[in-house]
Amino acid sequence: MERSTIVRVHEGLHARPATRFVKLAKSFESEIDLVKGEKSVSAKSSVKLMLLGVKENDEVIVRAQGADAIEAVEALIGYLENPKSGLDEEGQADRGKPKATNTAATPELAMNLAADGRLKGVGASEGVSLGLAHPHFPDEIKLENRKLAADEVEAEVARFRDAVVVVQKRMDVSLAAGNLAESDRGIIAALKDIAADDTLSEETISLIRGGMDAVTAVFGAASKVATEFSEMDDPYLNARADDVHAVGRQLCLALLGREEGGLEDIPDGAILIARDIGAWDLARAPLKRIRGVICGHGGATSHVAIIARAHGIPAVLGLGNQVEQLRTAKQIALDGGTGEVFADPDGETTVRFEERIRKAEEEHAALKVFRDVVSKRSDGVIIEVAANIGSLEEIEAAQEAGAMGVGLFRTELLFMRHMHLPSEDMQTEIYSTLAKAFAPHPVIVRTLDVGGDKPVAGVEFPDEENPFLGWRGIRMCLDRPDIFKPQLRALLRAAVHGKLKVMLPMVSEISEVARTRALIADCETELKAEGKDCRSFDLGVMIETPAAVLIAPMLAREVAFFSIGTNDLTQYVMAADRLNPTVAALNDVKNPAVMAAIAMTAKAGVEAGIMVGMCGEAAGRPDLIPEFIRMGLTELSMSPASIQRAKKCLAELASPSS
Ligand code: PEP
Ligand code: MG
Repeated sequence: MERSTIVRVHEGLHARPATRFVKLAKSFESEIDLVKGEKSVSAKSSVKLMLLGVKENDEVIVRAQGADAIEAVEALIGYLENPKSGLDEEGQADRGKPKATNTAATPELAMNLAADGRLKGVGASEGVSLGLAHPHFPDEIKLENRKLAADEVEAEVARFRDAVVVVQKRMDVSLAAGNLAESDRGIIAALKDIAADDTLSEETISLIRGGMDAVTAVFGAASKVATEFSEMDDPYLNARADDVHAVGRQLCLALLGREEGGLEDIPDGAILIARDIGAWDLARAPLKRIRGVICGHGGATSHVAIIARAHGIPAVLGLGNQVEQLRTAKQIALDGGTGEVFADPDGETTVRFEERIRKAEEEHAALKVFRDVVSKRSDGVIIEVAANIGSLEEIEAAQEAGAMGVGLFRTELLFMRHMHLPSEDMQTEIYSTLAKAFAPHPVIVRTLDVGGDKPVAGVEFPDEENPFLGWRGIRMCLDRPDIFKPQLRALLRAAVHGKLKVMLPMVSEISEVARTRALIADCETELKAEGKDCRSFDLGVMIETPAAVLIAPMLAREVAFFSIGTNDLTQYVMAADRLNPTVAALNDVKNPAVMAAIAMTAKAGVEAGIMVGMCGEAAGRPDLIPEFIRMGLTELSMSPASIQRAKKCLAELASPSS
């Protein structure tokens, strides 16, 4: 019994939809194959199915043989013809992390430490720290490379099967943990599917039967399957190679009777040292215990840096291969302002750092008195000192710091956490929680700013030579009303609960504002017709492209406020990639060219009588705040850790003698 069809499953049978398809296939007794072109695979193996690379709109055949073949074919064809198959649960993990975000530096030759043990990277989150090193370089597995005698083979196969059971049990324990976020749960469940899949087991057992020890066989089998994934023409499936390696590693550890420690075990006060760490991995680590972050990858405006700053954790990033030299360090001193790192500092350096830390703690304590101050200009005009945040988990830190609202809520982290786009209802709930938490202060939500360095699952980005100059921010949103409208509808619904404002990223033309307004009007009409509560909001734009600066006087007539995004504005004015440490010196907001662009924007906004704020990292710099206030800015939004210092600076500016 067989039937052909065109696959309508959104984005094809990758990850979660493949797993669900397999689950459905396994509920039938029949032998079932899925055929695409010349290739045919068992529909009961998710690895084989993913390797078949079935995409949306591909033609496939479902072939079944057995007592329930007719029912099986009917059910599986129905599944393949439903665009929402496998995607109907909220909160699935980001299983489709595109390969580009998974780059791991290859350990290369270690360089010699400078005589005083000093290394220099990019100062990415201010502050000094001294603490015990916590190198997070998962060990390479040592292969046994043992040739088995004929009578050892079956015992080795049994040893492998036991290891599979151990790994599955370990994964079940993790899945049962009450504190697990939904996204983590999705990741672990998908890894468990791979561990349970026949493809990896069959390949391993065949190598063992050929006389190879189990550890070496698992390694060989995982490498083979992973290579097949990495050679596929699909970034979602390429990322499965990492999953296969991860499962292979777990199997090897189980064979060796070992278990791996994750970041959850990081000791209190430790300095985390890694070759590469994902923003999301860092976000869910026990940040309160981490006293410093050192990383081979990343730059001052990468999202790892933003998370570190949000939590007041000193960080030095972009150390490149030098980070390998820190693998064996016991103690680390780091300066997140200058980018200096000292491995096992000598007595003099230790005393110097202890002294600086003591001073910083004193300053910190002294700054606390500014927490509840309402900052004002000398003429009495209120200066809103607000927080930049990217998730609801950061609300508490912002409130504790004394934030007068939120000047930038980066919605992309919300989109990046999931395997598919967050629903309108889910977004409504999140934006409403935010608006309520800070009422009566304003909360400025930035509409989705993905593309370039921030891809999300569910949006297929074209291959671009210069993604930072490509399809990102408002450009992508206007081309994808199916993504943009649910966000705008959610914002209109959430606006009922507080003082919500909305701003658009990467604006470079007036028409982008006009087109957004038209979509907002459509959304309002729809919501009213559906009887849903909603309220209109102030619409503003980020000024972060040179084009927006040059048309600022015209833009000011179209919007309720400006928020200057100095991170991008600096990179675009200076033509210096914000993530490239080699051009870090050019990426300087104090450069007269960038300061002139900020002044032009402020002038245009002030003359038009609209609020001009700033949400780029420069907003929290005491050396620049007086200049920004002189220019006419009345809102400064920054990492919560910078708020009290900014308020102090504003107080001194308003009454210089006090
Ligand atoms: C900016 O560009 O200054 C900004 C605040 O946005 P992001 O850092 O998220 O690009
Ligand atoms: Mg930006």
